[in-house]
Amino acid sequence: MDAPLERLVRRGLRDYAAYVPGTTAGDVRRRYGLERIVKLSSNENPLGTSPAALEALRSLSDVSLYEDRFEELRERLAAGVGLQARNVVLGHGSNEILQLLFTTFVDPDDEVVFSQPSFSLYRKDARVAGARAIEVPLTGGCHDLDGVLAVVSPRTKLVILDDPNNPTATRLDRDAARAFAAALDPGVLLVLDQAYFEYMDGAACDGARILRERPMTVVLRTASKIYGLAALRFGYAFASDEIASWLDRLRLPFNVSKPAAAAVFAALGDVGFVERSVRLNSEGRVRFEKTFARLGLHVYPSAANFVAVATPGRPDGSQMRATDAYEALLTRGVITRSGDALGLPGYLRVTIGTAEENDVFLAALEALASGELDALPAVGAAR
Ligand code: PMP
Repeated sequence: MDAPLERLVRRGLRDYAAYVPGTTAGDVRRRYGLERIVKLSSNENPLGTSPAALEALRSLSDVSLYEDRFEELRERLAAGVGLQARNVVLGHGSNEILQLLFTTFVDPDDEVVFSQPSFSLYRKDARVAGARAIEVPLTGGCHDLDGVLAVVSPRTKLVILDDPNNPTATRLDRDAARAFAAALDPGVLLVLDQAYFEYMDGAACDGARILRERPMTVVLRTASKIYGLAALRFGYAFASDEIASWLDRLRLPFNVSKPAAAAVFAALGDVGFVERSVRLNSEGRVRFEKTFARLGLHVYPSAANFVAVATPGRPDGSQMRATDAYEALLTRGVITRSGDALGLPGYLRVTIGTAEENDVFLAALEALASGELDALPAVGAAR
């Protein structure tokens, strides 16, 4: 960046590193001359998009008018959890609502508390807001709720917990979460980011109940995962009347597009797709866990559509670096996420795919663990 422009960029952001996009399927195909790529890196729905949502998208014939069914959509989402339409905020992905929480509530030098590692966006939003990020290490891959309570101060505005946590996939214990919510200073906004809520198989902590018991709570949910609508960008939040009203005031007008609204209306009625997605995921998770156990690889107990699994050992007994394991799997056309990039060294984050995708991944992992697959990138391969 040349100097005059750099002076224009906000002082606190001038050394902000450029975003490095993840490896795409096309990159891997070209680099290794492979036909089949298995992408298990972004926790997307391996069944694709809800067919009902796709049908609704296909039958759209006009987008010249602004969408006007937001109230009805909020009613539908609220009814599912016994809340009112006024308690629902809609967003261009749940990420937008998270950003809106910062815009609305966080002043420079305020403190924002979250776990380390957890979803990387929390750190970014805190940085852009000029807030102080107070990061509490996970214990055993789970949120350290006592540790979080211990760092809350009069400057704390938000406490953000992803449930399940990304990247470890662990969920909050229901009773522990309620006790935590009750113990947290009532002046602090608790944000429960439940992007993977539907995969928790009924064991999830009930965000809407916590909201009823503790009004200074916001629960984030998304259509990206369970309905297979990641690229359409649709998320929502449950919040008290007052908080929802503030968020509504400050959001961009028409922040949810007409195609997104149409697809979500249809997806909400596609109960069969949700059931199939959850079942496929549970079966895949069991398969993953059995194979990891057989290979002696540690995995955090997953409540989501992905797992964090330890890398295999090398012949000399040392543990393989996550990035080397990631690169080795790429040579077989399997794209995962290296824990090195997620604050979880020694682990790979792997999305649970279709049965066939899981087979390809598990075979490659097994080859890696038994030394058949070189743990280092092929000579000459681009990094
Ligand atoms: N929250 C967490 C914890 C996530 O892991 C993800 C997926 N990257 C999201 C939110 C994504 O949200 P959305 O697509 O709704 O913006």
